[in-house]
Amino acid sequence: MTHRITAIPGDGIGPELMDAAMRVWEATGVRFDWDVQTAGAAVAETEGTPLPQRVLDSIRRNKIAIKGPITTPIGTGFRSVNVALRKELDLYACLRPCHLYPGVQSHFDTVDIIVVRENTEDLYAGVEFDLNTPDAQKIIEMGGGKIRSDAAISIKPISRSGTERIARFAFEYARSTGRKRVTAVAKANIMKFTDGLFYRVCGEVASEYPGITYDEVLVDAICMQLVQHPEKFDVLILPNLYGDIISDLCAGLIGGLGMAPGANIGNGVALFEPTHGSAPRYAGQNKANPTALILSGMLMLRHIGETEAADRLEQAIAGVIADGTSVTYDMKTDRSDPSAVGTSQMADAIIARLRA
Ligand code: NAD
Repeated sequence: MTHRITAIPGDGIGPELMDAAMRVWEATGVRFDWDVQTAGAAVAETEGTPLPQRVLDSIRRNKIAIKGPITTPIGTGFRSVNVALRKELDLYACLRPCHLYPGVQSHFDTVDIIVVRENTEDLYAGVEFDLNTPDAQKIIEMGGGKIRSDAAISIKPISRSGTERIARFAFEYARSTGRKRVTAVAKANIMKFTDGLFYRVCGEVASEYPGITYDEVLVDAICMQLVQHPEKFDVLILPNLYGDIISDLCAGLIGGLGMAPGANIGNGVALFEPTHGSAPRYAGQNKANPTALILSGMLMLRHIGETEAADRLEQAIAGVIADGTSVTYDMKTDRSDPSAVGTSQMADAIIARLRA
C-alpha cells in the first residue's frame, strides 16, 4: 500500500531536515506518495498568507501530514502558522514522547515520559487585546481595579469539554500502551477557576480508569522534580502553555530539542512535527540534528499501522545514537567536537543500519 501524505518542509532548518528524513522514511521500505506543500513567511510574500487554503485542503484530503518547523515573527506580523494549523484542523492532542536513548549525553539513566499537551485553548487561544484599545479598556473596567489602566491583556480560556477530551486522550493512550500513572500539571492554587477546572475534569476522567494511578503536581513544583528525578514520571497531561514549556524541559532531559518528536492528533486527522523550532541560525548549514523529525515520522508510521517499519526505524536510530560516531554536534559532549557529522550524514548512517 502507498501512503499519500502531506509534507510541509517549513523554513529555517526545516527543508534540509525534511530532505534527510524523507530519505530515511523511504529506506524503511514503506511506500509514500508525498503531497509537498509550502507554508510560512516566504509563502506569505507570494500568496498573501503564510497558511494558504491549499495546505489545509491537502491535509484534510490526506488525513496525515508531517511538517518541519515554521518561524513565527515575534511581537508583530502574522500569528503562528503552527498554532493556526492545530486550531483549524482541531488537532487537540499534542503527544510528545520523551525517551532517553542509550548513548545520549544525560545526567540520568532512565527518562521515559509522555507529555500530553492540550493544543487548542488556554493562552494560545489568541484572544488578546492590545494596550490602549477600547476592548482592553472594557476588560480593565471589568477587572474592578485589579488590572492597571496601561495593560495589554490575554484571555486564558480552559473549557470543560476541551479538558475532558484531552484527559480522555491521555488515559486512553496510557491504557493502550500499558502505562501506569497519569499526572495532571497546572497552577490551580492561583488560577482556581481555569486550572482548577482542568484538575477537576482530569480527576473525573481518571475515575473511569481505576487501573491507572492519577495525581496532580503544580507546574512550578514539577519543574524541580523533573530535573531531579525524571524517572518518577510517566504520562503528564497539561494545558497548552505549560505543555509547551514542560515539553522543552523534557527535551533537555533526553539530549535536547534535536531528539524530541511530536504528534498533533485530532478526530481523523494527524500532523507530526518535532518539538523544536526553525533554529534560523543553523539554517542551510547541514548541521542540525534530524532525529526529532525522523522520530516524528516513526510516530507517524505507528499511527498509520506500519508498526514493523516503525520498530525497525527506531532500532536503526537507537543503533546510530548508541554507536555515537555518526551523530550531529548537539549530541557530542563538546559541541565543537570536529568528529560531529552533518544532518545528511546522520541520515545516511540511519539508512545504512536500516539496510544492514
Ligand atoms: P528553536 O527550537 O528553533 O531553537 C532553539 C535552539 O535549540 C537552537 O538555537 C539550537 O541550539 C537548538 N535546536 C533546535 N532544533 C535543533 C536541532 N534539530 N538540532 C540541533 N539543535 C537544535 O527555538 P527558537 O529559537 O525559540 O525558535 C525559532 C523559531 O521557530 C521561532 O520563530 C519560533 O516561533 C519557531 N518555532 C516553531 C515551532 C514549530 O514549527 N512547531 C516550534 C517552536 C518554535
